[in-house]
Amino acid sequence: MVGGEDTSGAAALREAATAVVRRLREAGFVALFAGGCVRDLQLGREPTDYDIATSARPDDVTALFARTVSVGARFGVVLVVNKIGSFEVATFRSDGDYLDHRRPSQVTWSDARGDAERRDFTINGMFLDPLTDEVLDYVGGRADLEAGIIRSIGDPRARFGEDRLRLLRGVRFAARLGATIEPATFATMQEMAPTIVDIAWERIGDEIGKILAEGAAARGLDLLSESGLLAVVLPEVEAMHGVEQPVKHHPEGDVFVHTRRCIAELRPEHDAGVRLATLLHDVAKPPCFTRDEDGRIKFHGHCERGAEMAYGICERLRCSNALRDKVVWLIANHLRHTEADNMRPATLKRFFAEEHFPALLELVRLDSLGGRGDLIRWDKLRAQYESLSAEELVPEPLLRGRDLLQLGYPAGPRLKTILHEAFDAQLDGDITDTDAARAWALHTYPLEGGDK
Ligand code: ATP
Ligand code: MG
Repeated sequence: MVGGEDTSGAAALREAATAVVRRLREAGFVALFAGGCVRDLQLGREPTDYDIATSARPDDVTALFARTVSVGARFGVVLVVNKIGSFEVATFRSDGDYLDHRRPSQVTWSDARGDAERRDFTINGMFLDPLTDEVLDYVGGRADLEAGIIRSIGDPRARFGEDRLRLLRGVRFAARLGATIEPATFATMQEMAPTIVDIAWERIGDEIGKILAEGAAARGLDLLSESGLLAVVLPEVEAMHGVEQPVKHHPEGDVFVHTRRCIAELRPEHDAGVRLATLLHDVAKPPCFTRDEDGRIKFHGHCERGAEMAYGICERLRCSNALRDKVVWLIANHLRHTEADNMRPATLKRFFAEEHFPALLELVRLDSLGGRGDLIRWDKLRAQYESLSAEELVPEPLLRGRDLLQLGYPAGPRLKTILHEAFDAQLDGDITDTDAARAWALHTYPLEGGDK
């Protein structure tokens, strides 16, 4: 982490989590850091949150701390809140049967070992005593972490059977950590991939979003494809494999290769809209593929069709409406900049003033990097965009409705058309003051005989 402030913030968070552990220990309970934060600390990564596992029951936890929120009492989870942050404190438990492949039907209070065994992967199954820095590893997590291996705790078939989400979590951790998935675990993932649809699409969408967000999206895509999960959750993306492109524009290879190269450029700073749009920008190339008699490959209409397909995909993944609309707009417009040289100034400015234009500029950059890799066109577009101030892009209109009424135009829908065109003329630079704007209106839209 960079910057003194962040580092001290991280240290303060760890200290606050340690204080929660200390308090539980003073009251006579076992209490340990658990799961993801233990993994991250051993990797030298700063955990974003700390989970604590304890022998204390939820009632004990609630009684010990001033501010608590009962977030999942049935699963023994209490949120302890203090000035620095909030911490999930969960009673050691073993999970009973999973009836819906999602949530255990019952939980049994247990000890640290039992609690480790209910977790998904060995690297996520360790505990750390923050008072002594001792790691408690009942599942071989440390060796797997050092070797970069994602391995199910216990029998993979049983574990994935309990909760299908683990299929996607396995991909996510392997991608994020640059780890390999242990062969028996991976073979089971391939075998069980079709059953991923047994869980809610919302959870699937969430996990896909995380795979794109954690800095290793290209590897995530490879693993999704190799595991067979991609064919089930995003068959439209799987279908990009082997779809040829014109070599001149795309020397890198087929549509899948191109898409993979584009998402390889995603960084944690990119927002969810850019991430998903980058994955899906060419999603309609497979159905739009044509090859004419001269052997020329075309993807006529793939932007519009892609936008429609993306709408459906976002609905399937239960994205918010705002995210869906952004992704759809980005895909519909991802080649529009190629027309920029032929646009009148007003059209170009209106394009630049679109809400999601900055995100589009980023998508264009990623699309270029995933193709021939030259950024000449993108750079020109960016320079053009940046040369214009907000005031130049969206100036105060020189002509307003009340001006037209004053001039004697009757109220009605025609006013809107006149104002729209007057604004275009203003953006083009043809009108520069209010008098000229009024004169323009009278000249372009003469008052009809009955208007006065
Ligand atoms: P991240 O860094 O993405 O938060 P994480 O490992 O902390 O990764 P969480 O979802 O925060 O993941 O869960 C915390 C811990 O709870 C995990 O490390 C794991 O031990 C356990 N866990 C979470 N989800 C599951 C699951 N679906 N099945 C089994 N154990 C799980
Ligand atoms: Mg976590």
